[in-house]
Amino acid sequence: MSDQILHQLQESAQLALNSQSVQEGVQHLSRAFTLFSEEAIRLKNAYAKLQERFQTVNQELGLKVAELQRLTHYLNNILTHISDAILFINLDGTVSLINSAAQKLLKVKPEGVLFRKFWDSFADDAFGFAMRESLKFGIAHRLIYRNEMEISTTFIYEGAKLYHGMIVVLRDMSEKQRLQLVANRNDRMKELGEIAATVAHEIRNPLGGIRGYASLLYRDLSHNPGLQEMASYIIEGTKSLETIVNAILHYSKPIQIQPQTVDMGEFLRQVGKFVKVDPAFPANVKLSLHIPETPLLAPVDPGALKSALLNLIFNAFQAMSRGGQLAISLFQREAKCQIDVSDTGVGIAPDLLVHLFSPFFTTKKMGNGLGLVEAQKIVQAHFGTIDVRSQVDVGTTFTITLPLKR
Ligand code: ADP
Ligand code: MG
Repeated sequence: MSDQILHQLQESAQLALNSQSVQEGVQHLSRAFTLFSEEAIRLKNAYAKLQERFQTVNQELGLKVAELQRLTHYLNNILTHISDAILFINLDGTVSLINSAAQKLLKVKPEGVLFRKFWDSFADDAFGFAMRESLKFGIAHRLIYRNEMEISTTFIYEGAKLYHGMIVVLRDMSEKQRLQLVANRNDRMKELGEIAATVAHEIRNPLGGIRGYASLLYRDLSHNPGLQEMASYIIEGTKSLETIVNAILHYSKPIQIQPQTVDMGEFLRQVGKFVKVDPAFPANVKLSLHIPETPLLAPVDPGALKSALLNLIFNAFQAMSRGGQLAISLFQREAKCQIDVSDTGVGIAPDLLVHLFSPFFTTKKMGNGLGLVEAQKIVQAHFGTIDVRSQVDVGTTFTITLPLKR
């Protein structure tokens, strides 16, 4: 109630009190009452307006809070799922953030590190020391730690002092080195492949000649069985050389795949059916398929991938000459699918495992040692990987990992 109105009201009340007649008193009182009710209405309106305004502000605030929550959630998601390991350390050394990649890389649990001083958790190693120096002098740096980790630090001095600190980004060098090794190996394999292809090509022509002349000799030596037998050895020899030369030429040719969207579960069921009707399917082997309910779609060339799988499956049969179980399983692994081909066969000794994907490595009398190389080539053409785990006399599992359709 404004002062002016209050004053007028007091004045009317006073006049009513001082009035000489009842009529005059009533007149003053009724004026006071009118003033009062007018003011009450004005106040009521003002209150309603205020309430309205309050509601809008409240709504806006709600939206802003929701937006802020969404943004926080989004940023947290990025931080959690980023493959780089990230820590945030306040200027006093308190760790206020450690994402899951960092927990994994540093082999720590968040509850043991978070909101504690950095040096309590990483006191005595060079890593802790380096970070402490960095914090002390406020110098951002980049270093390689124990050939395993690349550490880079950045300082943040923006916003409230509470938020000043150091961002530490750690990168797993072993993974980088492993990739580098694979890349080098691939380069070398490519070069070797080119050399092998040239050599094979150069051998093929004279080999054809040798075989031709040996065949002529064989024909003309029919009267001399002893010499004819020698000629037949030459022919046999050239035949096996030809097989090798053809294999090399085939191996060194880059493969072309034509990917299409394939339901991997359905695809594996088809492969299973195909294998079961094959006359080479051993009666003493039990084949089982393990396929998840939800369809997994992947861009693959079904013909090529089937041939890669058949190589693994027939190796498995050959490893179980006394019978056993062959399991083909499909799993989803984040944005990838994983196919396991497991057998309960003879297994592979650890010292042989390293030679497994080398061309011509075989332990079989009639083997050519190109099945796994071919399978690997096909899988790599799909941007996938192939791995093996094995235990002698227990069994072997080959694992193919392929990217799923985005
Ligand atoms: P090949 O079958 O002609 O020998 P591969 O490249 O298919 O050539 O396989 C190479 C070698 O790897 C085999 O000779 C065998 O020693 C080993 N191997 C492959 N798969 C298996 C398996 N499932 N169990 C045991 N050994 C295996
Ligand atoms: Mg084979």
